[in-house]
Amino acid sequence: MVTGDGAYIKKINRSLILKTIIEHGMISRAELAKITGLNKATISIQVAALLEEDLIYETQQEHNAVGRRPIMLSIKRDVGYVLGIDLDYKEIQYTLSDLLGYPVHHEKIFLDSEDYEEIVLLLVEHIQKYHKNCSHSRYGLISTVIGIHGTVNKEEEDIFFIPRYKWHSKSLKSDLKEKVNFDLNIHIENNANLSSYAEKVYHYHKSDNLLNIILSSGIGAGIMVDGHIHKGYHGYAGEMGHMIISPEGALCKCGNHGCWELYAAEPRLYEQLAQRLDKPVITQNEFYNLVNEKHPIVYEEMEIFIKYLSIGLNNIINLYNPETIVLNSEVLQAYPNVIEKIKGNLVSSVSQYGEIVLSKLGKDACIMGACAIAIQNFFEVPELIFSDSEKHIPFTNHKIEILNN
Ligand SMILES: [Zn+2]
Repeated sequence: MVTGDGAYIKKINRSLILKTIIEHGMISRAELAKITGLNKATISIQVAALLEEDLIYETQQEHNAVGRRPIMLSIKRDVGYVLGIDLDYKEIQYTLSDLLGYPVHHEKIFLDSEDYEEIVLLLVEHIQKYHKNCSHSRYGLISTVIGIHGTVNKEEEDIFFIPRYKWHSKSLKSDLKEKVNFDLNIHIENNANLSSYAEKVYHYHKSDNLLNIILSSGIGAGIMVDGHIHKGYHGYAGEMGHMIISPEGALCKCGNHGCWELYAAEPRLYEQLAQRLDKPVITQNEFYNLVNEKHPIVYEEMEIFIKYLSIGLNNIINLYNPETIVLNSEVLQAYPNVIEKIKGNLVSSVSQYGEIVLSKLGKDACIMGACAIAIQNFFEVPELIFSDSEKHIPFTNHKIEILNN
């Protein structure tokens, strides 16, 4: 090892102190010592260094009934920024976040193009704009994390495949690094992985074994095992939509028959409804209206949908024995008593799990996870906990604070 033991321990102590300050929002030196178990001299040296680096600041508490008013420490959240990008099909979302995960700017761009080169140039243009707008702060734009709705190679962070764009083997990270005219940390990550990470950081802090299932055009899953995102050998773990639940079933685009996402993702539900209601298509709003009207056909189809969803969940529960299962789905959000219905189907005495919940983050999960991972990397903390989750959502409602001035 290049670093000496002393330097290594110093680094560990620093990350423990930073993690604790982030988690508590405001904390005194004495409390820091108590929680971390570090002695007061160590706390004092580390805090002095963090003040010097401008990463934290001191405030005196307003009122304390007895004794001295303690000096409190907090993260200086506006000394640098991170950029989360959700590269979805035909739309790209950008969220600029401060160092405590609060969005300072959010925008959504709709695309006509599926052309890789064109989209790379668009990303570069936006990254450069955000970099310029953050240049007033001490650390500027620190890094960007891009969520991809497809598979990402673990080592090189290359895109292996994005089904809806039909992009195979694209080196997005190096293509961006080459075209961006300044030095920037860029990371590419699968959207379901980012979403599962966001669920833990913003909501389910203590849940180290968390499964996040996203039901949209297909089914994707982010798996957290013992507090870490489980990626598998290549980085492609979590493609649960292609778990076979009916060997004689319909042909899937992956080449197999009877994949889970042919039965429990949204396109199949909408197709079935359109067919039975004798309409060319059913839009999302029409679906919501039909649910509100308690239309019997919609209720019948939803029961079938939930039955197939539960079959896949049963299999996954047996694989992972998860503490928390977060279901991220607009269809499920709209339907009454959905969690009770799913639980009612999970009757096996073998399958055990802690809880099943609907995501509170919804479509923001990917981009919030992107920002959170960038922040965790910057502070080099082992774990990130943003406690006041109510203030963090929804991203889309936040207005411009630092840009366009
Ligand atoms: Zn398949």
